[in-house]
Amino acid sequence: MQDTLYVPNFDENLGFWNLNDNLQKQSAPSAQIHYNGSHHWLMSYQISENEPVCILDSLKSQRTLNNSLAIQLSQIYDNHKDSLKALIPEIQRQENSSDCGVFAVAYLTELLMTNFTVDVSTIRFDISKMRAHLYECISKCSFSAFPKINKMPKMPCKDARVQTVRLYCTRKLPDIVEDMVKCDNKKCRHKWYHKKCVGFVETVRGKTWLCHFCSW
Ligand SMILES: [Zn+2]
Ligand SMILES: [Zn+2]
Repeated sequence: MQDTLYVPNFDENLGFWNLNDNLQKQSAPSAQIHYNGSHHWLMSYQISENEPVCILDSLKSQRTLNNSLAIQLSQIYDNHKDSLKALIPEIQRQENSSDCGVFAVAYLTELLMTNFTVDVSTIRFDISKMRAHLYECISKCSFSAFPKINKMPKMPCKDARVQTVRLYCTRKLPDIVEDMVKCDNKKCRHKWYHKKCVGFVETVRGKTWLCHFCSW
């Protein structure tokens, strides 16, 4: 778990993402609670290096993998691959607009207490008791499983959604981070680079550009 203070945010004036490189790579199994930069908390985890990253989002929303989260995931989970696969299972939803953080902590606790073996889609927390339980855990400085109800899942078991984030350049970050430039060598190992990573200076249109791997 890393400090969520280091969320990349978009600088409207300068027009690029502030990437404080403070989110460190983690080796699996690992888990992280994320602030997605737009008033929402959710969590992610990865059981082993070859498994996709699982995203637990208690808000029914199309924004699950917004740009900020995509960057965070690429910083934490994958270093040498060209894409990051995110699995988004159907889970219990929050019933208001403010419980996302409580759910994120509850799921994290459940995963850690079961050593990542729990089937998250079957968990039904007792929402009426969640906040009091969180308060108690924090007061005691000791976390225990959140109260659950013994009901069968309300929702039909839908397949998890899969979203893929393409990763580019030497730092393996998404292309949303900055403007991109393509190396003109067809066999280039990375092909696309963030302009800032390679210190790209605009040249005459149509002139070929080779990255520093290919220009040697
Ligand atoms: Zn190249
Ligand atoms: Zn780059």
